[in-house]
Amino acid sequence: MRCPFCGNDNDGVRDSRNVEDGRAIRRRRSCNHCKRRFTTYERVEGLLQVRKRDGTCQDFSRAKIERGLAQACWKRKIKPEDIQQMAIEIEAHVLDNYEREVTSEDIGNICMERLRDFDEVAFVRFASVYRSFRDAQDFVKELTPILPQREPRNPR
Ligand SMILES: [Zn+2]
Repeated sequence: MRCPFCGNDNDGVRDSRNVEDGRAIRRRRSCNHCKRRFTTYERVEGLLQVRKRDGTCQDFSRAKIERGLAQACWKRKIKPEDIQQMAIEIEAHVLDNYEREVTSEDIGNICMERLRDFDEVAFVRFASVYRSFRDAQDFVKELTPILPQREPRNPR
């Protein structure tokens, strides 16, 4: 921890104790350079927040992702365990890459990426719900760059 008085990054912890009913740890530190003392608090970060398009936030929820995937995979030959596993992987990816906040748009994109490799029909379904396209032209414009590229046919 950098000393707030002299700016040196060389301190020692003299005392640690639980405070706020064990929800935080208070550490008394002393700077080895200027010898002054300061205090730090360590707390668990709140749950990752998902910022929606309308600007409001809600707690990140794997269950919600799983529901969205399950809807997209409806009547496809996809095992519930596979959907669950996909949701677990998406959650791990999100928690690895975002600290406090992630947009619902980013989560949607990550889900779409996974679904694309998994089942093309489920992917298109998810994309159409999630992007809520205004018309067919929008739909084609959005999907063309992300659908797997096919070799153009070469008529002879
Ligand atoms: Zn210092």
